[in-house]
Amino acid sequence: MTDNSTYPQAETIEQLRQNLATVRARIDQACVQAGRDPQEVRLLPVSKTHPADYLRLAYAAGCRMLGENKVQEAYQKWQELDDLADLEWSVIGHLQTNKAKYVARFASEFHALDSLRLAQTLNQRLELENRTLDVLVQINTSGEESKYGIDPEQAHELIAQLGQFQRLRVRGLMTLALNSPDQEAVRRCFIMLRELRDSLQASAPEGMQLSELSMGMSGDFELAIAEGATIVRIGQAIFGAREQPDSFYWPK
Ligand SMILES: *Cc1c(COP(=O)(O)O)cnc(C)c1O
Repeated sequence: MTDNSTYPQAETIEQLRQNLATVRARIDQACVQAGRDPQEVRLLPVSKTHPADYLRLAYAAGCRMLGENKVQEAYQKWQELDDLADLEWSVIGHLQTNKAKYVARFASEFHALDSLRLAQTLNQRLELENRTLDVLVQINTSGEESKYGIDPEQAHELIAQLGQFQRLRVRGLMTLALNSPDQEAVRRCFIMLRELRDSLQASAPEGMQLSELSMGMSGDFELAIAEGATIVRIGQAIFGAREQPDSFYWPK
């Protein structure tokens, strides 16, 4: 796994500002190297495990959207921070269908759509809330059983069915790459997501723009940008190393 000791804890607004600027500069640099426009890549700060009070510092440092992988943790923080009216939430981790109601209530974005049943339930719940939700379909590009997401071969069928859900705005695909020091193996995951998106684009339901590729984290975002990422999900390089073991990324 990535050497977490290289990420010092950010404890002040100033440190957070600095880390955000440093990560942003690395994103821009990776874009330039790839011949891409830096404006094509959005930085999504991932705030999981950090308490709501601390996230007020992130807000003060300029964050207006935060990513969380566990819906109940995110929901609680949303409630605690409801005075920050323009702070939006992106749920990026696996969601059980029986918790879809929480996402429908508060999230702006959901990166881990992985079944028709979940899409149906989210759509119903969003109707009740009179809200819409930007969604990305999570693809398992690494072939690891521990990872969530659908197999690439199932993507065409799922995407074809998502057009019927009026409350879901399907924006693209998301993946977690192989967690490995083998850069070429990691790169293959990112390439697979981009190529899959390109082939889905051709057959997607009318009006559906699969423009987003959510891929890349603290340890691999430059590689992801080289392969076409439009959203990078970054926690530790902004907030500092987390104590949690790797299993925390892929909750059972
Ligand atoms: C935690 C997490 C990230 C961010 O990982 P960092 O190593 O903190 O950058 C990205 N995506 C998902 C789904 C996560 O759970």
